[in-house]
Amino acid sequence: TSIKKSTFHMKPQTLRIEKDIYERSRRSMVEEQLVARGIKSKAVLDAMRMIPRHLFVDPAMRARAYGDNALPIGEKQTISQPYMVALMTEALALTGDEKVLEIGTGSGYQSAVLALLADRVFSIECISSVAAGAKRTLDSLHCSNVVVRLGDGTLGLAEEAPFDAIIVTAGAPDIPPALMEQLKVGGRLVIPVGSKENQELIKITKGEGRITKETLTGCVFVKLMGKYGWQEGNPC
Ligand code: SAH
Repeated sequence: TSIKKSTFHMKPQTLRIEKDIYERSRRSMVEEQLVARGIKSKAVLDAMRMIPRHLFVDPAMRARAYGDNALPIGEKQTISQPYMVALMTEALALTGDEKVLEIGTGSGYQSAVLALLADRVFSIECISSVAAGAKRTLDSLHCSNVVVRLGDGTLGLAEEAPFDAIIVTAGAPDIPPALMEQLKVGGRLVIPVGSKENQELIKITKGEGRITKETLTGCVFVKLMGKYGWQEGNPC
């Protein structure tokens, strides 16, 4: 079956999603991990009921794709826990018209969820094999409003700036200055900031001449690398 993206108040576009054996697991994931913990956005819940998360992990791990945890995706990286994806996406408060920047494509799962909720998604990944894997999965779903770029996401993406929303899915020592600059007035930035071991999930709203900062939760992400990230093993 094909699903019309207009369900999500977006430009007409069709994702290619086949029926699969994980539908019940996916529904339980949404009810038990997201609704039960306070995720309220119907659009976010519907998007996560729809995107086949099992296709974003190694075939040998598909049965575990709907569990309440992050999973390894190779190169010491992970696909984030479903609840974290939902919380961050909800915090971006998307209505369908936005241009979104994601730093840390990883598996591409978060990008696919964003694709259903925004107009266009630019996602930057710094490990080439990881970027290639995400592109393959996103292409197989006909996720045509996502562009995956290989590069250092701590520099943002100047040629596509400014963005209505920016999401960083790796733990940063600090907020990379380019991301603040490339955010529109009225725009939202969600980013885990802290040490290598654990972080706080921060939501920044950029107002006219002032910035609002809110802490959403404690969290544990893999390291943000790159010029304004952590330096060990930095491939950027
Ligand atoms: N959003 C992903 C989670 C990715 S894990 C998902 O849904 O699966 C974080 C990813 O960020 C890793 O793949 C890592 O390689 C990437 N990353 C870390 N630092 C980066 C940087 N400076 N620029 C781009 N990607 C980066």
